[in-house]
Amino acid sequence: MWCWSAPRGALRERSALGALGAGLSHLSPGLRQSCPTLPPRLSSASKMILTQCAVCATDLGLSLGKKCGRCSTRYCGAECQKQHWEQGGHDKLCKKIKKTGGAEQYNANTKYAEAVAVAAEACAEDTKGQTCYICTQALHWKTKEGLVRGCSCRGTAGFAHVSCLAEQAKILVTEAEENNLDAKAMNERFRRWWACSLCEQRYHGVVRCALGWACWKTYVGRAETEQVRGMAMTQLGNGLSEAGRYEDAVSVYDAELAMKRRLGASEGDMLLVQSNLAVTYEELGRSEEALRMKRDVYSGYVRLHGEENRDTCQVAENYALALIHLKRFEEAKSLLRKTIPVVRRVLGDNDGLTLRVRGVYAQALYFDAEATLDDLREAVTTLGEIERTARRVLGSTHPATMYIEDNLRHARAALRAREEAAPRPAPGG
Ligand SMILES: [Zn+2]
Ligand SMILES: [Zn+2]
Ligand SMILES: [Zn+2]
Ligand SMILES: [Zn+2]
Repeated sequence: MWCWSAPRGALRERSALGALGAGLSHLSPGLRQSCPTLPPRLSSASKMILTQCAVCATDLGLSLGKKCGRCSTRYCGAECQKQHWEQGGHDKLCKKIKKTGGAEQYNANTKYAEAVAVAAEACAEDTKGQTCYICTQALHWKTKEGLVRGCSCRGTAGFAHVSCLAEQAKILVTEAEENNLDAKAMNERFRRWWACSLCEQRYHGVVRCALGWACWKTYVGRAETEQVRGMAMTQLGNGLSEAGRYEDAVSVYDAELAMKRRLGASEGDMLLVQSNLAVTYEELGRSEEALRMKRDVYSGYVRLHGEENRDTCQVAENYALALIHLKRFEEAKSLLRKTIPVVRRVLGDNDGLTLRVRGVYAQALYFDAEATLDDLREAVTTLGEIERTARRVLGSTHPATMYIEDNLRHARAALRAREEAAPRPAPGG
C-alpha cells in the first residue's frame, strides 16, 4: 500500500503572480488583471464540492441534511427536497443524475466540461493550426474540444486536448494501482495530472484548472478512504486556485480538511492541505490568518521533514511571502537567507522553486522602505540573473518569468529613484 502523505508536488506551488496582488500598494496593478488567460471570477454560488443544500445553499458540511434516495442530491430537509422536485426541475433531472453516478459525479462532469471550454477558448490564439501530440488531431474526435497548452513547452511542442492529457494520466495511475506499485512510483504517475510529461513543468492557469476538474471527475466515485480520491480533491483545489478562483478553492480545501480530519489523516496530510489553504487566504487578502497558518505549517514541515527538503523550502517561500505582505522584511530576509543555499543545493539553479525563492528574497530587499543602496543593487542584480534563467528554462510566457520581469522593472525604478535622490559626491572630494 502506498502512503498518501506528502505526495511530492501535490503541494501547491505558490503562484508567483499572487505576490503582486492585494496588500502591496506601491506596485503596479497585478499582472492578474492584464493576463488574458484568466476567466472572470464566477460567483461563489457555483458549487465545487457539494456541501450545500441544492435549493437554499445552507451549509451541510460533508454529512448533514438528507439526500435524494435515487441520485444523492443533498438538501437541508424535506421541504427543500419537495420544492426541488416540484418546482426546481429535479423530477426531470433526477434519473439522468443517477445514471451519471450521482449528484457529486454529475456536478464534477458538468464543471469539467465548462472548465475545458474555458481553457480551450483561452488557448485558442496560441494553438491555432496545431495538433494534439497525443491523438494527432486538431479537434478531439469525440468531444470536439479545442487544444490547450499551459506548461513550458515551446515551438510546436506540447499542444494537447485536456481529454487526452487526462486519459493518459488516468491510464498510468490505473496501471500503478493494478500492479500495486509503491508510493514513489504512484506519485510519479499521479504527477501527470498536474505537470507536463514533455517539459516536466507544472501546468498553470486555466489549463491546470481544467485538469483539476478532470482529475476530480475521474476519482470522485471512489470510496472516501481511497488515497487517490483525496489526492484528486487536492488537485481540484489547486487548479481552482491557479485559475484565480480563490473562494472556490477555499471551499474545496475546507471540505478536504474536514474529510481528512474525520478519517484521522496523518499530520503531514493535514499540513499539506493547510499550506494550500493558507496560500489561498493570502490571495484573498486574509493576510494575518495566512501568516499564522503558514508559520505553523513551516514549523510542522521542519519538524517532520527537516530543512533539507524540497517541500520544506516550498513552505518557507510561502511563509516569507506572508511576512513581506505584512512588511516584516527582516524576518523574511533571515528566513530566506537560510532557505536559498538549501534550495540551490537540493534542486539546482534552474529549478522553478529556486528561481522563485531568490525572486522573493530580492522583493524583500527592495520593498523595504529602509533598503540601502546596496540592497537595491543586490535586488536588481539578482532579478536580472534569474530573469535570464527563467526565460531559458520556463519560457517567456510562463507566469513565474513574467513575475520576475515585473519585479525587475520595479526594482530598477526604485534603484534609479534612489540614485537620483542621493547627493552626488563633491567633485574632487
Ligand atoms: Zn435547503
Ligand atoms: Zn434525485
Ligand atoms: Zn488529443
Ligand atoms: Zn510541456
